[in-house]
Amino acid sequence: MSITNLEQLSKILTLKEDEKEWRETGPSLSMLISDNVLSVMDKDDPDDPIRREFVPTKYENITSKESIDPLREVEHSKTERLIHRYHNRAALLVTSRCYAYCRHCFRRRFTSNDDGKITKEELDEAAGYLREHTGIKEVLLTGGDMFTLSDEEIDRLLGGLKEAREDIIYRLCTRALFSAPERFTPALMSIIKKHMHGAPFLLMCQFNHPRELNDKAVKAVSAFVDMGIPAFNQAVLLEGVNDDVDTLEELSNKLLYNRIKPYYLFQGDMVDGTAHLRCSLKKGLEIEKELRKRLSGVAMPQYTIDLPEGGGKVILTENYVIGLKDGLWQIKSPFQGKRDYPEKDESAI
Ligand SMILES: *Cc1c(COP(=O)(O)O)cnc(C)c1O
Ligand code: SF4
Repeated sequence: MSITNLEQLSKILTLKEDEKEWRETGPSLSMLISDNVLSVMDKDDPDDPIRREFVPTKYENITSKESIDPLREVEHSKTERLIHRYHNRAALLVTSRCYAYCRHCFRRRFTSNDDGKITKEELDEAAGYLREHTGIKEVLLTGGDMFTLSDEEIDRLLGGLKEAREDIIYRLCTRALFSAPERFTPALMSIIKKHMHGAPFLLMCQFNHPRELNDKAVKAVSAFVDMGIPAFNQAVLLEGVNDDVDTLEELSNKLLYNRIKPYYLFQGDMVDGTAHLRCSLKKGLEIEKELRKRLSGVAMPQYTIDLPEGGGKVILTENYVIGLKDGLWQIKSPFQGKRDYPEKDESAI
C-alpha cells in the first residue's frame, strides 16, 4: 500500500520536526511513496538518502530566486502536451501521475495535478504536429510517468504515435522501474513488443542511488533490454542523497553492470522549493572531475545543467582546453601538466 500522507508515514517511522511541518500548499507536489521505495528505505535512519528523495519537508514551502518553470517549458509548448525546445526532438507529456513523487521533481508545476492524462484530442493534436514537423527525429514520452497509464491506454498511445510517425525514435521515460517494478507484466511487455516496428524504442531510467537498483528494479529493466531496447540512466545530483564520489561511482558501475548506460547526471534545476536538495555547482564540478578519473568512458555520465530561463542543456566538465597560442593548442593533461597540439596548417598540405 502506497503512503499518501504524514499520518500513514508516522506509523512506520518516527517523523522528524522538518517533516511534520511540511504543508501541501500552492503549486506543490503531493506526497506519494510506493511499496518498492519503502522497501529500500532505512526507516531507522533519519538521514536516509531514499527518505530524503521521497519524504517532504518544510523546506519545500520556502522559495527564493527560484521559479516554477525554470526551463520555460510552457513557453516552448507547441500543442497542449508537446514541448518542442530543440529542433530535432520534442517531449510529450502523457500524464501528470507517477507511482511515487520525487521531492526534487523539476516539473512540479504539472506533476501530481489532477488533470493528468492526455486526451484523445490532445494526442491527435500532438500527432498532427509530428506529421508536419519531419525535422523531429526523437520524442520523449514523459510526464509524469507514462507507465501509470493502463495497458489499453499505452497501446492506444503507442499505436497513435506510430501511425503518425513510424520513423521517430520514442524514448520511454520512466521512474516506475524503481517506484513500481511490478507494473512491467508480461502483458504490458507484449504490448510494447507489438509496437516495435520502425525506429527503435529507448528506455530512459532515473536511478539516483545504488540502493534503488534492487532485484525487482533490475528484473524490470532486463525485460526491456532482453527485448532489444537499450537502457539509459538520467540521475539527478542531490544533496544528502548522492553528492559524493563513492556513491556515484557505485551507482554508475552498478548501472553498467545491469546493462544501463549512465547518460546524464543533472545539476538540480532552479525549481521552487527544491533548494535543500540542490548540490552546489562548485562541489558538482569537483565530483565530476574525480568521477572521470575513477570511471571508464562508458560508465561516465555527462554532468549537465539545464540553464534557467529556458537557456537549454549544457554539459559541464573541467575545462581542459587552455587556448590557442602561436598555432599551438594548449591542453591540460588529466594526468599532469599540459601538452601542445598543433592547429592544422592548411597551407602545408
Ligand atoms: C532534455 C530535453 C530533451 C532531450 O535532450 P537530450 O539532450 O537529447 O537528452 C528534449 N526536449 C526537451 C524539452 C528537453 O528538456
Ligand atoms: S518520477 Fe519524474 S515526473 Fe515523477 S515525480 Fe519523479 S522526477 Fe517528477
